[in-house]
Amino acid sequence: MKFKLPKRCEYCAHKLVDGKCVNPDCIAYTKPETTTTETAGDSK
Ligand SMILES: [Zn+2]
Repeated sequence: MKFKLPKRCEYCAHKLVDGKCVNPDCIAYTKPETTTTETAGDSK
């Protein structure tokens, strides 16, 4: 059996997660959709 090499970003050669580059410094970086809003809310 052959092991499938993980795809890497063609821009920064970073490891792709779910086919997306997770390198914030990469131009192909896409913010994850499921993320908590970083808006500073008064949640006291
Ligand atoms: Zn990249």
